[in-house]
Amino acid sequence: MVVSAQRSSSQIIYRPPMMTHRLRSFRRAVRAGTTPKLALLLLLLLALLPWLAACATSVERAHDLHFDAIVIDGHSDTTPRFADPTWDFSRRHGVSDGDMDLPRIREGGLDVQFWSIYMGEREVPGAAIREALERIDAVHEMAARHPDDVVVAGTVREIREAVADGMLVSLMGVEGGHIIEDSLPALRNFYRLGVRYMTLTHSFHTNWADSSGTTEIPEPLHGGLTDFGREIVTEMNRLGMLVDVSHVSDATFFDALETTRAPLIASHSSTRAVADHPRNMTDDMLRALADKGGVIMINFYPAYIDEAARDATRAYFAEHGAALKEIYERAGDNAKRRGEGMAAHFNAYPVPQTSIGVLLDHFDHAIEVAGPDHVGIGADWDGVASMPVGMEEISRLPALTTGLLARGHSASTVRKVLGENLLRVLEAAERIAGEMREERLAD
Ligand SMILES: [Zn+2]
Repeated sequence: MVVSAQRSSSQIIYRPPMMTHRLRSFRRAVRAGTTPKLALLLLLLLALLPWLAACATSVERAHDLHFDAIVIDGHSDTTPRFADPTWDFSRRHGVSDGDMDLPRIREGGLDVQFWSIYMGEREVPGAAIREALERIDAVHEMAARHPDDVVVAGTVREIREAVADGMLVSLMGVEGGHIIEDSLPALRNFYRLGVRYMTLTHSFHTNWADSSGTTEIPEPLHGGLTDFGREIVTEMNRLGMLVDVSHVSDATFFDALETTRAPLIASHSSTRAVADHPRNMTDDMLRALADKGGVIMINFYPAYIDEAARDATRAYFAEHGAALKEIYERAGDNAKRRGEGMAAHFNAYPVPQTSIGVLLDHFDHAIEVAGPDHVGIGADWDGVASMPVGMEEISRLPALTTGLLARGHSASTVRKVLGENLLRVLEAAERIAGEMREERLAD
């Protein structure tokens, strides 16, 4: 560094020569009332320094909190890719090539992911159960291919231990009660294979539960849960499998709430007060869910969380539906070709997005109405056609922590939202399952 020595009567002062000169000319200019541009800039910079320092501190604080907390996401549809031998979970993919892989998960500070075991309605008996077994196997095989990074866990204790060891914990959720094909033995076996939640319906009714539908609310079939539906909820309690109310009708939600002994989760739902969508939860539902200890895990999909994006997305699919259907049909059984074709189309014609601010509005509202102990994250990675700007892939997840802190939520609230709330619910489900098994043995 170049310095100049300036003698004063008592000491030697080292200053950069340019700065000394500028300070002098600045003082002269201030005295003369002809402050130069550079001096004005200097003044502005000095005024901004505390603010810049505060920003740097808050970014650092958010980063530290995010990477120190246990971060759990309630819903990802990346699962079918695990069965594709040409797709490598440990390789970094571009933002246009899916939302998640191991390098981006690490960058996003995610510790625990619920992989969705999903398929649509199946006509042939046994087909859904077989497909679910194959999906579950794909999750276990993926973990087996990356033993130093990924593990399938079954209990909260195992989850905490694996996260402390730096592992990505894989959990599974069956998305849609249709997948058990009305078989309690199938449900129990799914639990034994590692499934820790079941969404009672997808976007269509099952033989025992009504759905909310996706865009239009369908005519109710049962008016909520049937007796067999209630039996399934009780059996899930007995197993320690979380009862998931995302996708169900409002009546099914209240029936499930009345039936269950364990807290409920909504693995990927948002709030209806902020965006009117049948997939979202009303304030009454949020309060009732919280009263019984449950957690709403906020969905990130712009078409669910922003009414303008919802309308724009509907218009988008009305315009592009035929082209997308053709891509879908042309690919036949080839899931990889289908995925690539869809991605290419979405890249050429982007699906409407919304801002990260709208997403934060849902978190704010849920925290305010349900309380800080009853909110979590359920983004719906790889299951929806777009994500908010700035949250396009899992590597952007730390922006959520930054945003929540910037909105004034305490570090303790943010830590709960990131993962502790869901762990508390899982612990309650484990405890209640134990109690119910003991009660049965005592009978
Ligand atoms: Zn879903």
